[in-house]
Amino acid sequence: MRKRILWIQTGGTFSCAGTESGLAPCSSEEQARKILLLMPQIIERYEVTPIVLMNIDSSDMTTADHKRIGDTIDENIVKYDGIVITHGTDTMAYTAATLSVMLQNLPIPVVLTGSQRPFFDKDSDAPKNFADAFMAVGKASMGGIFVVFGGRIMRGCDCTKVDTVSDDAFCSATGNEGKTANGNVTFSDNENQGSYSYDSSLCKADGKVALLDMHPSFNPDMIALLYDSGIRGFVIRCYGAGGMPEKVRAALGTVIAKGAKAIAVTQCLHGGADLGIYAVGTDAEKAGIIDGGNMTAEYALAVMMKTVSDIEQ
Ligand code: ASP
Repeated sequence: MRKRILWIQTGGTFSCAGTESGLAPCSSEEQARKILLLMPQIIERYEVTPIVLMNIDSSDMTTADHKRIGDTIDENIVKYDGIVITHGTDTMAYTAATLSVMLQNLPIPVVLTGSQRPFFDKDSDAPKNFADAFMAVGKASMGGIFVVFGGRIMRGCDCTKVDTVSDDAFCSATGNEGKTANGNVTFSDNENQGSYSYDSSLCKADGKVALLDMHPSFNPDMIALLYDSGIRGFVIRCYGAGGMPEKVRAALGTVIAKGAKAIAVTQCLHGGADLGIYAVGTDAEKAGIIDGGNMTAEYALAVMMKTVSDIEQ
């Protein structure tokens, strides 16, 4: 029997057509029909049900939209063997990371993909990414949230956009990418599946978490200002393995003492943070800043939203 795959369209360049003001998303039932007709390798192998959930440039994707996607996945996990989501590339890593926090131990694979150029453009990367996404969904040996792009299969909690032009636009922060072997897609650390849960409570922390990049002229006064304006969680993109200026450690320590939370991740693409290596890092830990280790900034943001929503309950 052919596997049943739900295709959730959300817009993005994948669906775009040229307009007077530039490329604009054009997801529609008719477009989905045209795309599937051009992809015999998909429709011959899978029973595909396309739906248009939204039709936006992913720059406009909000936490409420993440919840709509999460709700749709949750409602459909018993009806389908897998789900493919076409999504704009600009915020795909944020959506994938947020879904990875909301949907734990998914029983089916959910793959996000998109493209750098519209599907119907000559030499577009969209048909290949789309076909790869279905291949990954069809062959995945485990459930979970994944991003398939530029020939790579990445975990949703472990990928980031690294190129605005190249077809190879995403990479895994840990380098742990899925491999196709013996007809299955596997990861070196295939996790044990616990029981499935869906929890979208992190949405309650919408607008309450700040993502801050360290730089030499960073003004630590902004941390108190952010706290006073209602920010309760901080994701700090540190230098290297977790370097953070003393004045920032002190400012964060003050708001942490008032109940805020802070987590440190690295500005570097690979290697992760480790606050235990340098004195500036161990000082940060003493101030109450959590070591984000290998977390991407996108994933740390979602984790911090969940932390803040749990505290504020
Ligand atoms: N601006 C587009 C979006 O994120 C870019 C893309 O899809 O590649 O929706």
